[in-house]
Amino acid sequence: MTESNKVIQCPCGTTLLGADDDAVVAAAQTHASEVHQQELSRDQALSMARPG
Ligand SMILES: [Zn+2]
Repeated sequence: MTESNKVIQCPCGTTLLGADDDAVVAAAQTHASEVHQQELSRDQALSMARPG
């Protein structure tokens, strides 16, 4: 069994999903970089993450 998924809701409305903290942080960092041209720190991403 894996832990429940993590979800980050971007302010732009996009929902980013990951199987764990590392995955959802990576998804959020990629999204922030590609869509918003912003760097997102791991701490920032984790502060936005919720159990999915
Ligand atoms: Zn976004």
